[in-house]
Amino acid sequence: MSSFAGRTVLVAGLGVSGVAAARALLADRARVLLTDAAQLPVVAELTAGGATWLGVTDTVPAGVDLVVTSPGWRPDAPLLVDAAGRGVEVVGEPELAWRMRIPGPGGAPAPWLAVTGTNGKTTTVTMLEAILLADGRRAVAAGNVGRPLVEVVTARDEDGAPSFDVIAVELSSFQLHWSSSLAPAAAAVLNVADDHTDWHGSFAAYRDAKARILERSPVAVADAGDPVAARLVRARPGAVTVTLEEPRPGQLGVRAGSLVDRAFADDPAGEVLMERADLPVPGPHNTVNALAAAALARALGVPATSVAHGLAGFSGGAHRNVLVATLDGVDYVDDSKATNPHAAGASLAAYPRVVWIAGGLLKGADVDPLVAAVAPRLAGVVLLGRDRALIARSLARHAPSVPVLEVPSGNDGRMDAGRADAATTMTRVVAAAASLARPGDTVLLAPAAASMDVFRDYGHRGQAFADAVRALG
Ligand code: ADP
Repeated sequence: MSSFAGRTVLVAGLGVSGVAAARALLADRARVLLTDAAQLPVVAELTAGGATWLGVTDTVPAGVDLVVTSPGWRPDAPLLVDAAGRGVEVVGEPELAWRMRIPGPGGAPAPWLAVTGTNGKTTTVTMLEAILLADGRRAVAAGNVGRPLVEVVTARDEDGAPSFDVIAVELSSFQLHWSSSLAPAAAAVLNVADDHTDWHGSFAAYRDAKARILERSPVAVADAGDPVAARLVRARPGAVTVTLEEPRPGQLGVRAGSLVDRAFADDPAGEVLMERADLPVPGPHNTVNALAAAALARALGVPATSVAHGLAGFSGGAHRNVLVATLDGVDYVDDSKATNPHAAGASLAAYPRVVWIAGGLLKGADVDPLVAAVAPRLAGVVLLGRDRALIARSLARHAPSVPVLEVPSGNDGRMDAGRADAATTMTRVVAAAASLARPGDTVLLAPAAASMDVFRDYGHRGQAFADAVRALG
């Protein structure tokens, strides 16, 4: 709502959101300074538009009113430390977007429905977008997913009216760390598990960053099944939790196979939203995501029919529990996006008997509790990637009778060295998994680890899996 005309803003880090921030600030007639770790090609376009390239620098020049930092930069990056020392405010692109929102026809800017959590953010936000679109609203998913916020909050149609009347916002803990005044109409913390503590410094700091999403929100949603998230909302006004059990007042949950709302319904007994069987995505975790998306939409007054339509038409995200093929009675499922143990645990819980493909970069996470929890479901395990020995050790402890096959790759132990080897590695992995699977089993790629030791990213890993499965068929 405020104008940056005439103010001097330093955009630090020119990733997707930094570039969008620079463009929006230039359109608002701010003085825009740019820096990054290297001079990217986009700098030419931005300087042609009036921005000034400072080069690679650790110093905030005099006269800067605000620094907009990339979510990739750690708080101890020298430039951000310098800003703090000079008393210059540092924000992330979501905070900038919040300040730049344009008013709608009634004078108020489009409300935000915001989601954070260690896992399930993108799924929940895209489910929410689908519900809002089914309700006939001009909605968009933005933030950590999809388009930058600063772009959607300033977007106008040809007639000059704002393009969107509600925004489904995904926020990471990094983005929340650099946010100070966001006030979503409703906000959800899905879960808080061990992840990214290297960036935040501690689990408590990571959790507190996530909790920021709730600070100014009149409706605070969490998964009752996640102790940390549930504790974050418990004492708040407008606390709503979602549960896989029968809902109590103030909850959305599951009763006799139906998703039921007892938080926003007029009837104290609750209102049926839809049949759980009509959710097209598998697993208890996706029911939780659907209930959270429904809670946020219901907070804005969306009727049950729109929730049902939106969720029934939801197709799921790429590399998130996608059935690639069924071969000889065995389902092959790609959940390459399960990049930490918490996600892999949720994924494994969706299938009764699993040949589990796991391994990669564990990023310091402890895989032992996951292995202990999932051991009863395991028909076999195929391990790949740099940290596979850590998983093998846990398996020997908790599942000594489960067959385990290890598939080394050419670049073992070295990062970035042998990605040409990725397809070969995955072909061996899939063949090993097929040799362990019996009809009725699910071969599940849910690695509990990041992919960059062997693959470019989780998408590349998932694609290599799908290619190898199809070749097998
Ligand atoms: P994010 O955007 O937070 O990374 P995604 O929706 O992309 O989350 O899901 C990432 C992975 O996390 C999925 O592939 C699945 O393995 C797991 N997952 C999804 N939803 C949940 C949930 N509610 N709780 C735990 N794990 C989940």
